[in-house]
Amino acid sequence: MHIPMSSPDITQAEIDAVNAVMQTATLSIGPQIKAFEAQIAAYTGVPYAVGVNSGTSGLHLAMIAAGIGDGDEVITPSFSFIASANAILYERGVPVFVDIDLETGNLDTRLIERAITPRTKAIMPVHAFGQPVDMDPILDLARQHHLIVIEDACEAIGAEYKGRRAGTMGDAAVFAFYPNKQMTTGEGGMIVTQREEWDALFRSLRNQGRDVFDAWLNHTRLGYNYRLDELSAAIGVTQAKRLDALLAKRAQVAAWYNARIAAIEGIHAPCIAPTTTRMSWFVYVVRCADGIDRDSLMQALQARGVPSRPYFTPIHLQPFYREKFGWRRGDLPQTERAGDTFLALPFSGVMTESQVDYVCQQLTECVGEQGEAFRDRPDV
Ligand SMILES: *Cc1c(COP(=O)(O)O)cnc(C)c1O
Repeated sequence: MHIPMSSPDITQAEIDAVNAVMQTATLSIGPQIKAFEAQIAAYTGVPYAVGVNSGTSGLHLAMIAAGIGDGDEVITPSFSFIASANAILYERGVPVFVDIDLETGNLDTRLIERAITPRTKAIMPVHAFGQPVDMDPILDLARQHHLIVIEDACEAIGAEYKGRRAGTMGDAAVFAFYPNKQMTTGEGGMIVTQREEWDALFRSLRNQGRDVFDAWLNHTRLGYNYRLDELSAAIGVTQAKRLDALLAKRAQVAAWYNARIAAIEGIHAPCIAPTTTRMSWFVYVVRCADGIDRDSLMQALQARGVPSRPYFTPIHLQPFYREKFGWRRGDLPQTERAGDTFLALPFSGVMTESQVDYVCQQLTECVGEQGEAFRDRPDV
């Protein structure tokens, strides 16, 4: 049985939408991106949405809007995809990594206040795996210390925190549409914000710094080519129409996993916080108990044709970050523990129950092979 790590959910409707754009003369800056932006704004419940060519581009523009410059500090987790911290570096800011809660993989909000210094300008929480961060303590701190909040919601479109949608709580938020995300445009991203002046700024920055009302060749500021093309936007329009159905399919696959993982001793299912009123399943990540060697498990699964990945590998331990900032193993204990024991299993909305069965069967057997050492330990 061939089981891919992830698969996009593409139907004839997406193919027809792209074909229709191909028969027009407008392949960029046209009606598709406009329609797509309106859909995401309406879905999320924010007044402004700006399409860009990747989630990373969106985070970069959010850092510019937040006013990040030389040496400005941004509080963010190391337990994320490297794009979050890289966006800070693009503006020569300094990521200040705060440790996480091992259960959810999200920022441990109790540790944020002590990381605030006179150089702190912003907090960038990441809604990891599609589960919202505990935002209220973050928003309180931001108000007290006059900090900007940028939500990295690249993994969390549709997720809800105490009934509030991910992306509506910070000054701005970014969604991403890479093919493994809950919905895709191929490559693509979307910035959402409540701030009208930021909407104009993002539109200018993504389009070479042209001011929105200026003549075509009037470049007011340093800008970029971060535009989302019409073909990608057309895929987005179709996927956005199907978004709740796409999320429901993923929730079903996660439920199949949960039921089976509960019976595997030594493997912990994902933990959903009480503040998460709606999970938007991006990946299905389990935690190996003490006594289970994650990397050997991954190899054993691979030998049986089941792919799996460490997720995430902490950013502060990446060679580039170690060298530039001097981070070392031991600096963020829970992040490192998660980096050593978390394992993403194959997951997508098109996965079948028999595929989930197969993965869990192989997982049970592979854990069993490691089991001797494990069974000798009490309380894991
Ligand atoms: C996917 C993702 C991004 C952005 O990804 P792109 O590939 O640039 O669209 C940013 N942050 C996190 C946490 C992500 O998972």
